[in-house]
Amino acid sequence: MHLQDGQYQFTGGESVREIAAKYGTPLYVYEADIMYRQYRRLCDAFSIPNARIYYACKANTNLQILRLLNSWGAGLDCVSIQEVHLGIKAGFTPENILFTPNCVSLEEYEMAFDIGTLINIDNISILEQFGQAHPGAKVCIRINPHIMAGGNSKISTGHIDSKFGISIHQLPHVLRVVESTGIHIAGLHMHTGSDILDVEVFLNACDILFGVAASFPDLEYIDFGSGFKVPYKEDDVSTDVEEFGQEISKRFEKFCRSYGRDLTLMFEPGKFLVSESGTFLVRTNVIKTTVSTVFAGVDSGLNHMIRPMFYNAWHSIENVSNPEGRTRIYTIVGYICETDTFAVDRKLTEVHEGDILAFHNAGAYCYSMASNYNSRFRPPEVLIWKGKDYLIRRRETLEDLLALQQHASLPLPSTEDAPEQE
Ligand SMILES: *Cc1c(COP(=O)(O)O)cnc(C)c1O
Repeated sequence: MHLQDGQYQFTGGESVREIAAKYGTPLYVYEADIMYRQYRRLCDAFSIPNARIYYACKANTNLQILRLLNSWGAGLDCVSIQEVHLGIKAGFTPENILFTPNCVSLEEYEMAFDIGTLINIDNISILEQFGQAHPGAKVCIRINPHIMAGGNSKISTGHIDSKFGISIHQLPHVLRVVESTGIHIAGLHMHTGSDILDVEVFLNACDILFGVAASFPDLEYIDFGSGFKVPYKEDDVSTDVEEFGQEISKRFEKFCRSYGRDLTLMFEPGKFLVSESGTFLVRTNVIKTTVSTVFAGVDSGLNHMIRPMFYNAWHSIENVSNPEGRTRIYTIVGYICETDTFAVDRKLTEVHEGDILAFHNAGAYCYSMASNYNSRFRPPEVLIWKGKDYLIRRRETLEDLLALQQHASLPLPSTEDAPEQE
């Protein structure tokens, strides 16, 4: 979404106000062009032929988005068996799906194995049990290289007390399990956490993985996870993907030469592919001036977009209805009966009740983290694809909210049975 000729537009020239009027608010809108740009950018960053991108679909699991990524040649990274089912439904073949869960049961691994996805095991207990059940099966293991990185403690996964991965210090134990079960380690994986800014930090972790690889003679791929940062603020630093791609390609080639075989280099970005494609549109219900603050209260809240409250995430916001108004300062809050502040002391062009506000970077971890808290409906999703807008998920209704509840009444005493008042 961008401002052009005094109007906010999507990439194909569609008016943001018209889209908001057509589908109503709150509303998620995604621009396929931006996803494609990001996907190509990442593919083109690597100078080696066998590099592959697996889309980490927990960022956004809309089937139409999965279908687009499949058609462009991406694989899929899934953290639950349900995501695997969605991937299959969207047309991914099992060989193009990587199952990378954390702390799930052996049964869930078995389900993914039966479907035929790549399996990524993140603890020794499961490796041992899975290896005994399927000697000779090919699996990947998730290594925790203990690189401290990540934008915040909730998404930093590489530290020493993290629940993710198998510590590199436990390598001798892993090797004993491999030896005694006969399981085939075909892949190594790491995912150190989101929002890595420093290319050097990332490359250090890659070197650690190359070191681990020497212990496993039958590898087919190495998966470096994600961590690509996208800009949220105008002056934000983002990962220099091109520089990083060149650097890792060089090191990977060198590693393959010493390993004696060409392996596949894998990455599994979520946010990088879809974050910037998304815009969240809400309507201003009320302007409320207190002693200290001017609040803009909107028709959404932590139920639809929890990142600002959960991670303290900063999403840029614009007033689509009044692009050229004078700038004033607002605190933007939701309608949930809980403190759900989207943004504090933001400069926006003057907001009137009824105005449409747009949140940027709403393509990743926004709809996929939405809930029905306060019994509100989740918003619809619209995809802009080749200059046309498509409804790719409808707004929920009261029927949807009631669908899972059991309607048969409990055997409560009827009013006729009630004891008579003396
Ligand atoms: C969440 C996740 C990703 C994607 O992380 P982004 O920051 O969205 O790129 C990749 N791999 C695994 C295993 C994950 O859990």
